[in-house]
Amino acid sequence: MAKELTKMDKIISLCKRRGFIFPGSEIYGGLANSWDFGPLGVELKNNIKRAWWKEIVQKRDDVVGLDSSILTPKIVWEASGHLENFTDPLVECKKCHQRFRSDKIEGKKCPDCGGELTEGKKFNLLMKTHLGAVEGSQDEAYMRGETCQGIYLNYLNVKESMRKKLPFGVAQVGKAFRNEITPGNFIFRTREFEQMEMQYFVSPKEANEYYQEWKDWTFDWYKNLVYRPENLRLRQHEKDELAHYAKEAWDVEYKTPFDDWSEFAGIHNRGDWDLSRHGKYSGADMNYTDEETKEKFIPYVDEVSMGADRAVLLFLIDAYDEVETRSGGENAVHETEIVLRLHKNLAPIKVAILPLSKKEELSQPAKEIYHDLQKYFMCQYDETASIGKRYRRQDEIGTPYCVTVDFESLEDKKVTVRDRDTMKQERILISELTDWLKDKLD
Ligand code: ATP
Repeated sequence: MAKELTKMDKIISLCKRRGFIFPGSEIYGGLANSWDFGPLGVELKNNIKRAWWKEIVQKRDDVVGLDSSILTPKIVWEASGHLENFTDPLVECKKCHQRFRSDKIEGKKCPDCGGELTEGKKFNLLMKTHLGAVEGSQDEAYMRGETCQGIYLNYLNVKESMRKKLPFGVAQVGKAFRNEITPGNFIFRTREFEQMEMQYFVSPKEANEYYQEWKDWTFDWYKNLVYRPENLRLRQHEKDELAHYAKEAWDVEYKTPFDDWSEFAGIHNRGDWDLSRHGKYSGADMNYTDEETKEKFIPYVDEVSMGADRAVLLFLIDAYDEVETRSGGENAVHETEIVLRLHKNLAPIKVAILPLSKKEELSQPAKEIYHDLQKYFMCQYDETASIGKRYRRQDEIGTPYCVTVDFESLEDKKVTVRDRDTMKQERILISELTDWLKDKLD
Protein backbone atom coordinates (compact mmCIF):
# COMPACT_ATOMS: atom_id res chain seq x y z
CA MET A 1 0.00 0.00 0.00
CA ALA A 2 1.31 3.46 -0.89
CA LYS A 3 2.52 5.51 2.09
CA GLU A 4 0.27 8.40 2.94
CA LEU A 5 1.87 11.73 2.13
CA THR A 6 2.59 14.02 5.06
CA LYS A 7 1.75 17.71 4.93
CA MET A 8 5.47 18.46 4.41
CA ASP A 9 5.64 15.97 1.49
CA LYS A 10 2.72 17.78 -0.09
CA ILE A 11 4.24 21.23 0.42
CA ILE A 12 7.63 20.16 -0.97
CA SER A 13 5.94 18.61 -3.99
CA LEU A 14 3.79 21.70 -4.58
CA CYS A 15 6.90 23.89 -4.37
CA LYS A 16 8.63 21.85 -7.07
CA ARG A 17 5.57 21.47 -9.31
CA ARG A 18 4.63 25.13 -9.24
CA GLY A 19 8.08 26.70 -9.42
CA PHE A 20 8.64 27.85 -5.84
CA ILE A 21 11.62 25.78 -4.67
CA PHE A 22 13.81 23.22 -6.46
CA PRO A 23 16.49 20.87 -5.08
CA GLY A 24 19.95 22.46 -5.57
CA SER A 25 22.19 21.14 -8.41
CA GLU A 26 19.47 18.65 -9.25
CA ILE A 27 20.70 17.55 -12.72
CA TYR A 28 23.91 16.36 -11.05
CA GLY A 29 22.05 14.32 -8.52
CA GLY A 30 21.69 17.23 -6.11
CA LEU A 31 23.73 18.70 -3.26
CA ALA A 32 22.05 17.52 -0.07
CA ASN A 33 20.09 20.19 1.77
CA SER A 34 20.69 22.91 -0.78
CA TRP A 35 17.68 24.52 -2.41
CA ASP A 36 17.11 26.95 -5.27
CA PHE A 37 14.26 29.42 -5.34
CA GLY A 38 12.30 29.22 -8.59
CA PRO A 39 10.34 31.99 -10.36
CA LEU A 40 7.53 32.02 -7.77
CA GLY A 41 9.79 31.32 -4.78
CA VAL A 42 11.94 34.34 -5.53
CA GLU A 43 8.82 36.52 -5.73
CA LEU A 44 7.55 35.20 -2.41
CA LYS A 45 10.92 35.65 -0.70
CA ASN A 46 11.37 39.15 -2.16
CA ASN A 47 7.89 40.10 -0.98
CA ILE A 48 8.74 38.90 2.53
CA LYS A 49 11.99 40.86 2.57
CA ARG A 50 10.23 43.93 1.16
CA ALA A 51 7.42 43.71 3.73
CA TRP A 52 10.02 43.54 6.50
CA TRP A 53 12.14 46.39 5.12
CA LYS A 54 9.09 48.60 4.65
CA GLU A 55 8.05 48.24 8.30
CA ILE A 56 11.47 48.34 9.88
CA VAL A 57 13.33 50.87 7.70
CA GLN A 58 11.03 52.79 5.37
CA LYS A 59 8.32 53.64 7.90
CA ARG A 60 10.67 54.58 10.76
CA ASP A 61 12.89 57.59 11.45
CA ASP A 62 15.20 55.72 13.78
CA VAL A 63 16.31 52.76 11.61
CA VAL A 64 18.53 52.84 8.51
CA GLY A 65 19.72 50.10 6.15
CA LEU A 66 23.07 48.51 5.35
CA ASP A 67 24.53 45.85 3.04
CA SER A 68 27.89 44.62 4.34
CA SER A 69 30.39 42.03 3.04
CA ILE A 70 29.94 38.31 3.45
CA LEU A 71 33.70 37.76 3.58
CA THR A 72 35.33 38.91 6.79
CA PRO A 73 38.76 38.43 8.39
CA LYS A 74 39.20 35.86 11.13
CA ILE A 75 39.64 38.50 13.83
CA VAL A 76 35.99 39.57 13.45
CA TRP A 77 34.91 36.12 14.64
CA GLU A 78 37.52 36.00 17.36
CA ALA A 79 36.17 39.29 18.66
CA SER A 80 32.53 38.23 18.31
CA GLY A 81 33.24 35.09 20.33
CA HIS A 82 32.01 32.78 17.58
CA LEU A 83 35.33 31.01 17.04
CA GLU A 84 35.31 30.00 20.66
CA ASN A 85 31.60 29.56 21.34
CA PHE A 86 29.77 28.90 18.10
CA THR A 87 29.94 25.17 18.46
CA ASP A 88 27.62 22.24 18.55
CA PRO A 89 28.50 19.13 20.57
CA LEU A 90 28.87 16.23 18.16
CA VAL A 91 28.94 12.45 18.51
CA GLU A 92 29.83 9.93 15.84
CA CYS A 93 28.60 6.37 15.39
CA LYS A 94 31.56 4.01 15.53
CA LYS A 95 29.84 1.61 13.11
CA CYS A 96 28.21 3.70 10.36
CA HIS A 97 30.13 6.95 11.04
CA GLN A 98 27.00 9.09 10.95
CA ARG A 99 27.33 12.24 13.05
CA PHE A 100 24.65 13.61 15.34
CA ARG A 101 24.23 16.61 17.61
CA SER A 102 24.52 15.11 21.06
CA ASP A 103 21.99 17.57 22.46
CA LYS A 104 19.43 16.35 19.91
CA ILE A 105 19.59 12.57 20.33
CA GLU A 106 18.15 10.45 23.06
CA GLY A 107 19.98 7.43 24.38
CA LYS A 108 23.53 6.25 23.84
CA LYS A 109 23.11 4.28 20.60
CA CYS A 110 23.12 5.39 16.97
CA PRO A 111 19.51 6.14 15.95
CA ASP A 112 20.23 4.76 12.46
CA CYS A 113 22.06 1.47 13.02
CA GLY A 114 22.14 1.03 16.79
CA GLY A 115 25.97 1.25 16.85
CA GLU A 116 28.01 2.62 19.73
CA LEU A 117 28.56 6.38 19.83
CA THR A 118 31.83 8.26 20.49
CA GLU A 119 32.24 10.82 23.26
CA GLY A 120 30.92 14.31 22.37
CA LYS A 121 33.30 16.61 20.45
CA LYS A 122 32.87 20.31 19.82
CA PHE A 123 32.41 21.32 16.20
CA ASN A 124 32.65 24.93 15.03
CA LEU A 125 29.87 26.05 12.71
CA LEU A 126 31.70 28.88 10.93
CA MET A 127 32.64 28.37 7.28
CA LYS A 128 36.24 29.11 6.44
CA THR A 129 37.57 29.94 3.01
CA HIS A 130 40.83 31.11 1.41
CA LEU A 131 41.32 34.33 -0.51
CA GLY A 132 43.65 34.47 -3.50
CA ALA A 133 45.68 31.78 -5.20
CA VAL A 134 47.83 30.51 -2.36
CA GLU A 135 46.38 28.72 0.61
CA GLY A 136 47.87 29.76 3.92
CA SER A 137 46.75 31.09 7.25
CA GLN A 138 47.49 34.63 5.99
CA ASP A 139 44.68 34.38 3.45
CA GLU A 140 42.13 32.80 5.71
CA ALA A 141 38.72 34.46 5.66
CA TYR A 142 35.32 33.55 7.01
CA MET A 143 31.89 33.63 5.44
CA ARG A 144 29.79 35.47 7.98
CA GLY A 145 27.87 33.23 10.36
CA GLU A 146 25.38 36.01 11.13
CA THR A 147 24.72 39.26 9.27
CA CYS A 148 24.68 41.43 12.40
CA GLN A 149 28.48 41.42 12.76
CA GLY A 150 28.68 43.58 9.62
CA ILE A 151 26.40 46.05 11.40
CA TYR A 152 28.70 46.29 14.45
CA LEU A 153 31.71 46.78 12.16
CA ASN A 154 29.90 49.75 10.59
CA TYR A 155 28.37 51.18 13.77
CA LEU A 156 30.73 54.18 13.82
CA ASN A 157 30.46 54.77 10.04
CA VAL A 158 26.66 54.79 10.12
CA LYS A 159 26.45 56.92 13.25
CA GLU A 160 28.77 59.55 11.82
CA SER A 161 27.64 59.60 8.18
CA MET A 162 23.94 59.68 9.10
CA ARG A 163 24.41 61.97 12.15
CA LYS A 164 22.57 59.48 14.35
CA LYS A 165 21.96 59.81 18.05
CA LEU A 166 20.89 57.00 20.37
CA PRO A 167 18.60 55.23 20.15
CA PHE A 168 18.91 54.18 16.52
CA GLY A 169 18.89 50.94 14.57
CA VAL A 170 20.61 49.46 11.53
CA ALA A 171 18.90 46.76 9.46
CA GLN A 172 20.36 44.35 6.96
CA VAL A 173 19.15 41.49 4.77
CA GLY A 174 21.72 39.06 3.43
CA LYS A 175 23.25 35.62 3.30
CA ALA A 176 24.80 33.86 6.26
CA PHE A 177 26.63 30.53 6.34
CA ARG A 178 26.82 27.85 8.99
CA ASN A 179 28.29 24.39 8.72
CA GLU A 180 25.18 22.87 10.32
CA ILE A 181 25.60 19.28 11.46
CA THR A 182 21.97 18.39 11.10
CA PRO A 183 20.53 20.41 8.21
CA GLY A 184 17.08 19.34 7.09
CA ASN A 185 13.33 19.75 7.23
CA PHE A 186 13.31 21.25 3.74
CA ILE A 187 14.49 24.89 3.93
CA PHE A 188 14.18 25.10 7.73
CA ARG A 189 17.85 24.42 8.40
CA THR A 190 20.38 24.84 5.60
CA ARG A 191 24.07 25.73 5.49
CA GLU A 192 23.53 28.76 3.31
CA PHE A 193 20.58 30.95 4.23
CA GLU A 194 19.37 34.51 4.35
CA GLN A 195 18.82 36.56 7.48
CA MET A 196 16.87 39.74 8.10
CA GLU A 197 18.48 41.38 11.12
CA MET A 198 18.14 44.72 12.90
CA GLN A 199 20.44 45.94 15.66
CA TYR A 200 19.04 48.71 17.85
CA PHE A 201 21.72 50.74 19.68
CA VAL A 202 20.51 52.14 23.00
CA SER A 203 21.81 53.47 26.28
CA PRO A 204 22.17 50.69 28.89
CA LYS A 205 19.44 52.34 30.98
CA GLU A 206 16.88 52.08 28.19
CA ALA A 207 17.91 48.71 26.78
CA ASN A 208 15.26 46.74 28.60
CA GLU A 209 12.37 49.04 27.71
CA TYR A 210 13.24 48.98 24.00
CA TYR A 211 13.84 45.25 24.16
CA GLN A 212 10.21 44.71 25.19
CA GLU A 213 9.08 46.92 22.30
CA TRP A 214 11.11 45.01 19.72
CA LYS A 215 9.85 41.70 21.08
CA ASP A 216 6.27 42.84 20.49
CA TRP A 217 7.17 44.39 17.14
CA THR A 218 8.59 41.09 15.87
CA PHE A 219 5.66 39.03 17.04
CA ASP A 220 3.18 41.49 15.50
CA TRP A 221 5.06 41.52 12.19
CA TYR A 222 4.41 37.79 11.79
CA LYS A 223 0.93 37.98 13.25
CA ASN A 224 -0.18 40.55 10.70
CA LEU A 225 0.92 38.34 7.83
CA VAL A 226 -0.17 34.85 8.86
CA TYR A 227 -3.47 33.15 8.20
CA ARG A 228 -3.44 31.07 11.39
CA PRO A 229 -2.16 33.26 14.26
CA GLU A 230 -3.06 30.55 16.78
CA ASN A 231 0.01 28.63 15.55
CA LEU A 232 2.33 31.47 16.53
CA ARG A 233 3.83 32.10 19.98
CA LEU A 234 6.68 33.83 21.82
CA ARG A 235 8.88 31.71 24.06
CA GLN A 236 11.58 32.83 26.45
CA HIS A 237 14.95 31.07 26.44
CA GLU A 238 15.95 29.21 29.57
CA LYS A 239 19.25 30.34 31.13
CA ASP A 240 21.11 27.31 29.74
CA GLU A 241 19.83 27.96 26.21
CA LEU A 242 21.18 31.52 26.01
CA ALA A 243 23.80 32.21 23.32
CA HIS A 244 27.16 33.49 24.56
CA TYR A 245 26.26 37.11 23.75
CA ALA A 246 22.69 37.16 25.12
CA LYS A 247 21.41 38.60 28.40
CA GLU A 248 17.82 37.76 27.51
CA ALA A 249 16.31 36.00 24.51
CA TRP A 250 12.84 35.21 23.19
CA ASP A 251 11.95 33.22 20.08
CA VAL A 252 9.01 33.58 17.78
CA GLU A 253 7.85 30.01 17.24
CA TYR A 254 5.37 28.49 14.82
CA LYS A 255 3.76 25.06 15.06
CA THR A 256 5.27 23.03 12.24
CA PRO A 257 4.19 19.63 10.92
CA PHE A 258 7.74 18.27 11.43
CA ASP A 259 8.77 19.42 14.91
CA ASP A 260 5.82 20.95 16.74
CA TRP A 261 6.88 24.44 17.99
CA SER A 262 9.94 25.58 16.05
CA GLU A 263 12.04 28.75 16.08
CA PHE A 264 11.57 31.23 13.26
CA ALA A 265 13.01 34.40 14.80
CA GLY A 266 14.99 35.48 17.83
CA ILE A 267 14.91 38.73 19.77
CA HIS A 268 18.04 39.18 21.86
CA ASN A 269 19.30 41.67 24.40
CA ARG A 270 23.02 41.47 23.52
CA GLY A 271 24.12 44.03 26.11
CA ASP A 272 27.41 45.73 25.22
CA TRP A 273 29.06 42.41 24.32
CA ASP A 274 29.58 43.01 20.59
CA LEU A 275 30.61 46.67 20.59
CA SER A 276 32.98 46.28 23.54
CA ARG A 277 34.63 43.22 22.05
CA HIS A 278 35.08 44.87 18.64
CA GLY A 279 36.40 47.97 20.41
CA LYS A 280 38.89 45.84 22.30
CA TYR A 281 40.07 43.76 19.32
CA SER A 282 40.23 46.61 16.78
CA GLY A 283 41.30 49.51 18.98
CA ALA A 284 38.36 51.62 17.72
CA ASP A 285 36.62 53.78 20.30
CA MET A 286 33.06 52.51 20.59
CA ASN A 287 32.14 54.84 23.44
CA TYR A 288 29.14 57.11 23.12
CA THR A 289 28.81 60.40 24.96
CA ASP A 290 25.33 61.54 25.88
CA GLU A 291 25.11 65.20 24.86
CA GLU A 292 22.90 66.21 27.77
CA THR A 293 24.30 64.26 30.71
CA LYS A 294 27.87 63.97 29.31
CA GLU A 295 27.74 60.36 30.41
CA LYS A 296 30.09 58.05 28.49
CA PHE A 297 29.20 54.43 27.81
CA ILE A 298 29.30 51.59 25.28
CA PRO A 299 25.79 51.28 23.77
CA TYR A 300 23.71 48.18 24.39
CA VAL A 301 22.14 46.30 21.50
CA ASP A 302 18.60 44.96 21.16
CA GLU A 303 18.50 42.58 18.23
CA VAL A 304 15.72 41.34 15.95
CA SER A 305 16.96 38.33 13.99
CA MET A 306 14.90 36.35 11.54
CA GLY A 307 15.59 33.89 8.74
CA ALA A 308 14.23 34.88 5.34
CA ASP A 309 14.16 31.29 4.05
CA ARG A 310 12.64 30.12 7.30
CA ALA A 311 10.01 32.83 6.91
CA VAL A 312 9.21 31.48 3.42
CA LEU A 313 8.68 28.07 5.01
CA LEU A 314 6.54 29.51 7.79
CA PHE A 315 4.25 31.32 5.36
CA LEU A 316 3.98 28.25 3.09
CA ILE A 317 3.06 25.95 5.98
CA ASP A 318 0.67 28.57 7.35
CA ALA A 319 -1.03 29.23 3.99
CA TYR A 320 -1.33 25.63 2.78
CA ASP A 321 -4.97 24.60 2.77
CA GLU A 322 -6.93 21.77 1.23
CA VAL A 323 -10.60 22.33 0.42
CA GLU A 324 -13.36 20.28 -1.13
CA THR A 325 -13.67 20.54 -4.90
CA ARG A 326 -14.84 24.04 -5.67
CA SER A 327 -13.84 24.62 -9.30
CA GLY A 328 -14.30 22.54 -12.41
CA GLY A 329 -18.04 22.04 -11.97
CA GLU A 330 -19.73 18.68 -12.34
CA ASN A 331 -16.91 17.26 -14.46
CA ALA A 332 -14.36 17.56 -11.69
CA VAL A 333 -12.71 14.22 -10.96
CA HIS A 334 -10.50 15.35 -8.08
CA GLU A 335 -11.63 15.23 -4.45
CA THR A 336 -9.69 18.08 -2.91
CA GLU A 337 -8.11 21.27 -4.13
CA ILE A 338 -5.13 23.16 -2.75
CA VAL A 339 -5.51 26.81 -1.86
CA LEU A 340 -2.48 28.75 -0.71
CA ARG A 341 -3.94 31.38 1.57
CA LEU A 342 -0.94 33.70 1.41
CA HIS A 343 -1.36 37.28 2.59
CA LYS A 344 -1.96 39.42 -0.49
CA ASN A 345 1.24 41.38 0.16
CA LEU A 346 3.22 38.15 0.02
CA ALA A 347 1.50 36.34 -2.86
CA PRO A 348 3.97 35.95 -5.74
CA ILE A 349 1.36 36.68 -8.41
CA LYS A 350 -1.30 39.26 -7.54
CA VAL A 351 -3.59 38.99 -10.56
CA ALA A 352 -4.21 36.32 -13.21
CA ILE A 353 -5.87 37.27 -16.48
CA LEU A 354 -7.88 34.43 -17.98
CA PRO A 355 -9.79 34.85 -21.24
CA LEU A 356 -12.70 32.41 -21.42
CA SER A 357 -11.72 31.42 -24.93
CA LYS A 358 -8.46 31.35 -26.88
CA LYS A 359 -10.17 33.05 -29.81
CA GLU A 360 -8.56 36.31 -30.79
CA GLU A 361 -11.79 38.14 -30.15
CA LEU A 362 -11.17 37.54 -26.44
CA SER A 363 -7.42 36.97 -26.23
CA GLN A 364 -6.63 40.34 -27.74
CA PRO A 365 -8.56 42.49 -25.22
CA ALA A 366 -7.43 40.14 -22.42
CA LYS A 367 -3.78 40.69 -23.39
CA GLU A 368 -4.36 44.43 -23.41
CA ILE A 369 -5.69 44.24 -19.85
CA TYR A 370 -2.73 42.05 -18.90
CA HIS A 371 -0.19 44.53 -20.27
CA ASP A 372 -1.91 47.43 -18.49
CA LEU A 373 -1.97 45.62 -15.13
CA GLN A 374 1.65 44.43 -15.46
CA LYS A 375 2.80 48.01 -14.91
CA TYR A 376 1.51 47.82 -11.33
CA PHE A 377 1.35 44.19 -10.25
CA MET A 378 3.02 40.82 -10.87
CA CYS A 379 0.52 39.20 -13.24
CA GLN A 380 0.10 35.96 -15.15
CA TYR A 381 -1.74 35.47 -18.41
CA ASP A 382 -3.17 32.01 -18.98
CA GLU A 383 -5.38 30.85 -21.82
CA THR A 384 -4.68 27.12 -21.75
CA ALA A 385 -7.02 24.46 -20.31
CA SER A 386 -10.52 24.80 -18.88
CA ILE A 387 -11.37 27.77 -16.70
CA GLY A 388 -11.77 25.49 -13.65
CA LYS A 389 -8.28 24.12 -14.12
CA ARG A 390 -6.86 27.61 -14.55
CA TYR A 391 -8.55 28.81 -11.34
CA ARG A 392 -7.07 25.80 -9.59
CA ARG A 393 -3.56 26.61 -10.81
CA GLN A 394 -3.90 30.13 -9.44
CA ASP A 395 -5.36 28.92 -6.12
CA GLU A 396 -2.38 26.58 -5.74
CA ILE A 397 0.07 29.48 -6.00
CA GLY A 398 -2.03 31.82 -3.85
CA THR A 399 -3.06 34.42 -6.46
CA PRO A 400 -5.59 36.69 -4.70
CA TYR A 401 -7.49 37.78 -7.83
CA CYS A 402 -8.42 36.12 -11.13
CA VAL A 403 -9.82 38.31 -13.89
CA THR A 404 -11.87 36.54 -16.57
CA VAL A 405 -12.66 38.11 -19.89
CA ASP A 406 -15.76 36.66 -21.57
CA PHE A 407 -17.92 37.42 -24.60
CA GLU A 408 -20.12 39.69 -22.52
CA SER A 409 -17.05 41.79 -21.77
CA LEU A 410 -17.03 42.84 -25.41
CA GLU A 411 -20.51 44.31 -24.93
CA ASP A 412 -20.53 45.76 -21.41
CA LYS A 413 -16.77 46.52 -21.12
CA LYS A 414 -16.70 44.69 -17.81
CA VAL A 415 -14.69 41.69 -16.55
CA THR A 416 -15.34 39.21 -13.75
CA VAL A 417 -12.97 39.37 -10.79
CA ARG A 418 -12.88 36.29 -8.57
CA ASP A 419 -11.59 36.46 -5.01
CA ARG A 420 -9.38 33.48 -4.00
CA ASP A 421 -10.73 33.18 -0.46
CA THR A 422 -14.38 34.18 -0.63
CA MET A 423 -14.90 32.88 -4.22
CA LYS A 424 -17.07 35.95 -4.68
CA GLN A 425 -17.28 37.11 -8.29
CA GLU A 426 -17.76 40.77 -9.17
CA ARG A 427 -18.26 42.49 -12.52
CA ILE A 428 -15.90 45.47 -12.75
CA LEU A 429 -15.61 48.04 -15.52
CA ILE A 430 -12.33 47.52 -17.41
CA SER A 431 -11.67 51.26 -17.19
CA GLU A 432 -11.88 51.03 -13.38
CA LEU A 433 -10.06 47.72 -12.94
CA THR A 434 -6.56 49.06 -12.16
CA ASP A 435 -7.81 51.37 -9.43
CA TRP A 436 -10.12 48.70 -8.04
CA LEU A 437 -7.17 46.28 -7.76
CA LYS A 438 -4.82 48.95 -6.37
CA ASP A 439 -7.34 49.61 -3.67
CA LYS A 440 -7.67 45.92 -2.77
CA LEU A 441 -3.98 45.07 -3.01
CA ASP A 442 -2.44 48.05 -1.27
P1 ATP B 1 18.65 27.21 15.70
O1 ATP B 1 18.47 27.08 17.20
O2 ATP B 1 17.46 26.80 14.90
O3 ATP B 1 19.95 26.65 15.20
P2 ATP B 1 19.74 29.77 16.23
O4 ATP B 1 19.13 30.07 17.57
O5 ATP B 1 21.13 29.34 16.12
O6 ATP B 1 18.79 28.78 15.42
P3 ATP B 1 20.06 32.50 15.50
O7 ATP B 1 21.53 32.46 15.55
O8 ATP B 1 19.33 33.19 16.58
O9 ATP B 1 19.50 31.03 15.29
O10 ATP B 1 19.62 33.07 14.07
C1 ATP B 1 18.50 33.86 13.89
C2 ATP B 1 17.57 33.31 12.84
O11 ATP B 1 18.27 32.93 11.66
C3 ATP B 1 16.84 32.04 13.28
O12 ATP B 1 15.71 32.36 14.04
C4 ATP B 1 16.47 31.43 11.95
O13 ATP B 1 15.28 32.03 11.44
C5 ATP B 1 17.63 31.81 11.07
N1 ATP B 1 18.55 30.67 10.95
C6 ATP B 1 19.54 30.34 11.81
N2 ATP B 1 20.19 29.24 11.38
C7 ATP B 1 19.60 28.87 10.23
C8 ATP B 1 19.82 27.82 9.29
N3 ATP B 1 20.80 26.94 9.46
N4 ATP B 1 19.01 27.73 8.20
C9 ATP B 1 18.02 28.63 8.01
N5 ATP B 1 17.79 29.64 8.85
C10 ATP B 1 18.55 29.78 9.94
